[in-house]
Amino acid sequence: MDYLQKLCSESVDIENHDESIIESSHEFYFPNMCHICRCFGEEANINLKRCGACQMISYCCKDHQIKDWSSHKQFCKVICQIKKEWKVNNVFQSLKSIAQKKALIYLEDDVDKQKYHLSLNNLNMRLVIETVTLLRRKLTKIEFQMISFPRICTVCYESNSDLLINCKKCPLSSFCKDHLNYSNHESECKKNIACFNTVRSIFYRLKSFTLFDKMMIDSPYYNATKKLPSSMLEFIEMRSSTDLTQFGKSDVINVSEDIKSTIFKRLLSDRFSRGFTTLFAIEKLSLNNLQSMVIHIVGSNIGETIVTDWEVILHFLPNLQKLQLIFIGPDVFSNSKETKIVCNLCKMENKKLIFETRKTLYHDYCREESFLKPDLIACFDPGFHVYKTWKKSIKVLNKGQCPLLVTAIHNVEACIDKCYIDSEYPSAKCIFNDNNPFAYICYQRQDIYYPIAANNQCLYIYESLDKKNKTTK
Ligand SMILES: [Zn+2]
Ligand SMILES: [Zn+2]
Ligand SMILES: [Zn+2]
Ligand SMILES: [Zn+2]
Ligand SMILES: [Zn+2]
Repeated sequence: MDYLQKLCSESVDIENHDESIIESSHEFYFPNMCHICRCFGEEANINLKRCGACQMISYCCKDHQIKDWSSHKQFCKVICQIKKEWKVNNVFQSLKSIAQKKALIYLEDDVDKQKYHLSLNNLNMRLVIETVTLLRRKLTKIEFQMISFPRICTVCYESNSDLLINCKKCPLSSFCKDHLNYSNHESECKKNIACFNTVRSIFYRLKSFTLFDKMMIDSPYYNATKKLPSSMLEFIEMRSSTDLTQFGKSDVINVSEDIKSTIFKRLLSDRFSRGFTTLFAIEKLSLNNLQSMVIHIVGSNIGETIVTDWEVILHFLPNLQKLQLIFIGPDVFSNSKETKIVCNLCKMENKKLIFETRKTLYHDYCREESFLKPDLIACFDPGFHVYKTWKKSIKVLNKGQCPLLVTAIHNVEACIDKCYIDSEYPSAKCIFNDNNPFAYICYQRQDIYYPIAANNQCLYIYESLDKKNKTTK
């Protein structure tokens, strides 16, 4: 994707904007949404019409199409030119036949699955390059999204507009008549809507920080709760209701309830998903009675040391007195070690939280004298298949002779990444491999061929990587 993004005028993650471009980030595209008033689903379905020339963008009425024409015109003409050159009625026409040749469901080998996704992506890549060449400028974010998230049948990639029917609920999915009652869409549909709300709410993100700051470290929530919540959503609902009661509603930003709830979910997931995921794994592994614990966070980034609330682990493990987290990876800020200031509750119980950062690759850290044996290793959305350096690091994940938890942004990535572990450690004992109840509740489109992504969406936990007593190098 990196290369493609360079051709987009705002070279950012497709949806994960950084603060600097927040002004323009209220612009976004969904194939089945009126591009002007953003209506979709049942309220729009009867009237939603597509641009007849390019078939790539929808409007609820003639007025809204006319309103958008000046910004859409140039791109539309270029798409029509490409259609002519390629001799197709629709630029995504070839997808269905690529997909049919080797339907994903018949592919067993995960490397094949990855190759298959890449072959679909080639069409997008060609389209980006051709449009950029013909436009003689970079693509706008909207144009880039139009190429990345086309209107195709979710199941078979049929692209013929006349054969497609939009999902009545979400702005992203369409179905051909053969797949109209596709039963697997329900959970994906909810994520699509959540994703729409997330994209729409990004604009409000900065304003919401004041509110978030109010949700201080000494939340009344922790006095009231000792049992691990069953999911991220349950935690967010309880936490935001206790905190908001305490702080009053005066500072609550003036936006609609669903945007407010989306912002809450986004900010609180960002802060708590990793801590709760770790707690969930600790419970599954029956490690909850340890008094002192060392956890290696491998392939760590700055966000994990700054944004994540790790103290939550102390709050739900009454026996745990000392928690030492070692963040290892080339992306952490620098080498350091510090004892963190903890909340009053933890102070009273004399609990200690220690952060150590090691700016190095894990296989190098494992050779250091300062190597401290972990009780648990955690890799959050590592993308083993994306970064070459993981190859060496995976080989030493057994040095600590301890359990391992790994997360992934969606099940395709989980499936591919898990193979890396399983092929290195054939006798590894995996005790959990499923959706993570403590995933982010904040969804992003990757590209149309992958499921909707969310941080830590999938989780797999290994009790051990190789048979006990085997000596490690
Ligand atoms: Zn409209
Ligand atoms: Zn058009
Ligand atoms: Zn279909
Ligand atoms: Zn849907
Ligand atoms: Zn505390």
